[in-house]
Amino acid sequence: MHEFSTAQGIVETAIHYAKKNKAKKVKKVFLEIGELTFLNVEQLKFSYDILSKDTILDNSELVVEVKSATYKCMKCGASGKLGKIENEDHFSIPVFHCPKCGGEIEILSGRQCFIKNMEIEV
Ligand SMILES: [Zn+2]
Repeated sequence: MHEFSTAQGIVETAIHYAKKNKAKKVKKVFLEIGELTFLNVEQLKFSYDILSKDTILDNSELVVEVKSATYKCMKCGASGKLGKIENEDHFSIPVFHCPKCGGEIEILSGRQCFIKNMEIEV
């Protein structure tokens, strides 16, 4: 389960940060994830709630911000948000070629997953 192991990493990092900053209580954890991680936000929050039980993170809120992926074309140099198409099951899949020239693209962002900020009580 992708979300569960990701949540595990988030919880560990957040606890580490909270201890380092001598937090008494953690209120909110702000997470930024790229759309190419294909993480399910609801499942991520659910896993977070289970894993944060009986830790300093207990009852804190995980605030997730999903960022669009960006690309740069290796052929014409165009850049921007990664395009998406919907397949027959209405599942949107990213387009991995340049919308302008059809060239090969480099993914600049979209695979990130990190804690941006935390709201703590000291
Ligand atoms: Zn191009």
